[in-house]
Amino acid sequence: MTPNPPEKAAAGDTAPAAALPLLPTRELVVFPHMVAPIFVGRAKSIEAIQRAFNEHSPLILSAQREPTQEEPGVADIMAVGTRVKVLQLFQLPDGSVKALVEGEQRVRIESYEATAPCFVARSVSLTSSDRALPRCRSLGRRVAREFGTYARHDPQLAEELLGVVEQTRDPEELADIVAAHLQVDAAQKQALLEMESTQERLLALLELLAEENAVLEIEQEIGLKVQQRIESAQRQLFLHEKLRVIRDEIEEGGETPDEEVGEYVRRLAEGRLSPAARKLVERELKKLRQAPSMSPEVAVIRGLLDSIFDLPWGTLAPADVDVAAVDRHLQRTHYGLKDVKDRILEYLAVCRMRSEAAARGRFGRLSALGGSGRAAATRRDDDADQPATILCLAGPPGTGKSSVAQSIADALGRPFVRVALGGVRDEAEIRGHRRTYIGAMPGRIVEGLAKSGVDNPVMLLDELDKLDSDWRGNPAAALMEVLDPAHNHSFRDNYLECEYDLSRVFFIATANDVDGIPATLYDRLEVIYLTGYTLNEKLAIARRHLLPRVARDTGLRRDDVRFGRGVLQAIVRGYTREAGVRELERALRRIDRKVARTHLEDGAPLPATVEAGVLGEYLGEAVWLETELPRAGHVGESLGLAYTSDGGEVLTIEATIARGRGELVLTGQLGDVMQESASAAWGHLLGNVERDPALRALIRRSPYLTKEGLDLATQDVRVHVPEGAVPKDGPSAGLALAVAMLSALARVPVKPRVAMTGEITLGGRVLRVGGLKEKLLAANRGGIRTVLLPAANRATVAELPADVVGRLKLVYVDKFADALPHVLGGRRAPAPPA
Ligand code: ADP
Repeated sequence: MTPNPPEKAAAGDTAPAAALPLLPTRELVVFPHMVAPIFVGRAKSIEAIQRAFNEHSPLILSAQREPTQEEPGVADIMAVGTRVKVLQLFQLPDGSVKALVEGEQRVRIESYEATAPCFVARSVSLTSSDRALPRCRSLGRRVAREFGTYARHDPQLAEELLGVVEQTRDPEELADIVAAHLQVDAAQKQALLEMESTQERLLALLELLAEENAVLEIEQEIGLKVQQRIESAQRQLFLHEKLRVIRDEIEEGGETPDEEVGEYVRRLAEGRLSPAARKLVERELKKLRQAPSMSPEVAVIRGLLDSIFDLPWGTLAPADVDVAAVDRHLQRTHYGLKDVKDRILEYLAVCRMRSEAAARGRFGRLSALGGSGRAAATRRDDDADQPATILCLAGPPGTGKSSVAQSIADALGRPFVRVALGGVRDEAEIRGHRRTYIGAMPGRIVEGLAKSGVDNPVMLLDELDKLDSDWRGNPAAALMEVLDPAHNHSFRDNYLECEYDLSRVFFIATANDVDGIPATLYDRLEVIYLTGYTLNEKLAIARRHLLPRVARDTGLRRDDVRFGRGVLQAIVRGYTREAGVRELERALRRIDRKVARTHLEDGAPLPATVEAGVLGEYLGEAVWLETELPRAGHVGESLGLAYTSDGGEVLTIEATIARGRGELVLTGQLGDVMQESASAAWGHLLGNVERDPALRALIRRSPYLTKEGLDLATQDVRVHVPEGAVPKDGPSAGLALAVAMLSALARVPVKPRVAMTGEITLGGRVLRVGGLKEKLLAANRGGIRTVLLPAANRATVAELPADVVGRLKLVYVDKFADALPHVLGGRRAPAPPA
C-alpha cells in the first residue's frame, strides 16, 4: 500500500469510497458523461478491467504521466482520474481486450490497496463547490456558444452533440462534455480534468475554444484560397492546351506577326532601359516572337513589356528646390498652419543643402531632391549622414495633409501621385506579385511611378498608420526597402524582376494616428503634426479657399453664391462635427450645386443669397442639434474629453451601483490603460470616501451608507463608456471616471455641460494630460461650458491660440477633491430600486 503524494482536498470531496480496480491509460483522458472505447493490452490492465466487469464494480481510469512507460508504478500515475462503468467487454483474438466505458465521476486517488495482480485504489469524488453560481451559468452559455462555432469547423462532431451541449443546464456537466470533445492534447485534457472549480474550468475552456476557433478560421481561409488558386490555374492550363490544339488545327503553327513586336523593338532601341531591363526585354521579345499569337502566354509577356516600357527610365521633372517658391505657394493655397509650413520649409532647405553638397561630392549619393540620379546607383552608399528621414504629415482627417503635399509638388513643378496604403495587408501590393501568380501585377510603388511619368515625382504614401500585416507577408518591411536610402536605388519589384531606382522619388507620408505606424518605419520619419482647426480658422478657410474653389468647380463665379450673416458658422455648427474641414467643404459643394441647378431649371437669379432660415432647403435638417449634444447632468454620468485619430471627442461615462460582490465591472471596449485608470479612480474613492472631508460630506446621505460606513461589499460598481464600436484607451479619463463613480455612489447629479480631463492617482492627485488642443476644440464643438483640467496643464493651455479656448470656462485642479464643487451638485436623486 503506497500513499499518493499529499494533496489538498477539494472543497466538495466526500468520504473515501470502496477500493476499486484501477487502469493506467496512455494519452487517454475520459471525462464523466462520455462513452469511450478503450483497447487494453497489458496484463495488469486486462486483469483490472475484467475484474471490474465481472464484479459489476466501477473502474478507475487515470492517465500515466509518461505514456511510453510499459510498467508504471503508483508514482507514475496521475492523482486525478475518472470513475467509469464498464459497459461492454470483448476478447480479441490476440489476447487483448476491447471495452466500452462510460465516465461517471471525477475522482482523486487517495491511496493504493494493491499494485498486483492489478492496481487497486481508494479515491474520493472530485466535485466543485461553485457549480451553482449564476456566473457559472452565464460562463456555461458562452462556452456552449463558442463550442457551436468550434463544432462547425469539425465535420467529425455530430449534430446531436451540439443539441446535447445546448440543452445541458449544469455548468459542471457542460464543462465535462465540451472538454471531452475538444481536439487538444492529453496534457491539456488532464489539466481540465483536474481543475476543481467549475468557474476556472469554464474560463479555461473559453480560452482554449477562442484559440482553437481563431486557428481553425485561418486554416479554413487559407484552404479556400489555395483551392481557388489551384482551380483557376488548372482552368488556365486546360484552356491554354485547348487553344493550342485549335490553333494547330487551323493555322498549322503560324507565328506571331512581326508587327506585334515591332513597337517594342522600337522602344527598346530608344535605349533608356537599364542593362538588366534590356536583357529581360530581349528575352521576352524572343519568347513573344515564338509564341503562337492566340496563346495566353502572349498576354502575359505583353503585360510585362508594357509595364516595363511604361516606367519613366530616367525621365526627370525639374529637380531644383526653390524653398522660397514653395513658401509662397503654400501661403497662397493654405490658410494658417504656420508651424507646419515652417517645418516643411526647414526640411526642404536641409534637403537642398544636402543635394548641393552631394553635387559637390560630399555625399555618397544624391538625395531625392535634386541632381541627375543616373550616377547615383554607381556611387557609394555608405555615407553615415545622408538624409534618411521621410516627411510625415500627421493629424485628423481633413486638416490639409494631402493638399499640403500636393501644394509642395506643384511648387516644385513635379508630378504628384498618391499611393493609398489604408488596409494594405499583402506585401505583394507594395512589392508586386511574382509572375507565376495568375493575374500578377507590379506593386503600387512601381505603378505610381509609371503613372507620374517621371523618376522624381512627389509620391504621397497615404495613411501609413493603416498598413496591416497578416500571413501574406509584411508590407511594412517592404515599405522600409522603398524608403531606405541605402537600398532604394536598386528596388526590386517581384513582377518586373529587375531593379529600379527609387532614390529620386520625393516621398511624403500621412497618418491620422502615429501610434499606428509600425515602429521600424516610424524611426525613419520626420513627423509634422497638423491639429484640428478652431471655428474661426474654419470660417477663414471657407471664405478664402473653399468657397472660391467650390464655385469654380461648379462653374459659378465666386460671388454667385452669397452667405448671410452667421450662416457659415451655422453650417459648421449644425452640419459638421470634425477636426478638419472636409465635411464643411462637402456641405458648401451641395449648396453650390443646388444654386446652379435652380438657376438653370427654374431661372432663379444670380447671385443667390443663402440665409440661415433656409439652410434646411439646401442641406436638409441639421445633423447636429444643440439639444442632442452630450451634456449629462444626470446621476452617475460624467463627460470626459478624449483624443482620437479623428480629432477630439466628448465622451459620456456612465457609472451605476448594483447589488453584487464589491467588484468593479467595466464595459464598452476599454483598453488596458483605461481599465487601470478606472481601478485607480475606484481605489481612490474606496480609500478616501470616509476620510476626506469633501468626499464624506457628499456621501452623507448616500443610500449605501450604513452605521458601519459605506457598505460596498454587497454592491458592484459598473462603468460603461458607450459607443461600443470606438475602442477607448489612455489614462486621461481618470478624473471623469472618478466623478461618475462618486456621483453614482452619492446619488448626486453631475452638473450639465461640464467636461473634464485628467489622469488620477490612487492618492487622488490629478496629473497632466496630452492632446489638449483637440480636446478643447471638441468641447467647444460639443457645446460644453466648463472644462476641468489638471493644474499641471496650465502652461500648455497658455500656449494655445485664444480661440481654441473660445467660450469655455477653464477650471484647473490639483486634487480630485478640488474638482467636486465644480462638477457635482443639484438635487440628490433617490436610490435606484434594489
Ligand atoms: P487630409 O489629407 O488631412 O485628410 P485634405 O488635404 O484632403 O485633408 O483637406 C481637405 C480639404 O480641406 C481640401 O480641400 C483642402 O484643400 C482643404 N484644407 C484643409 N486645410 C486647409 C487650409 N489650412 N487652408 C486651405 N484649405 C484647407
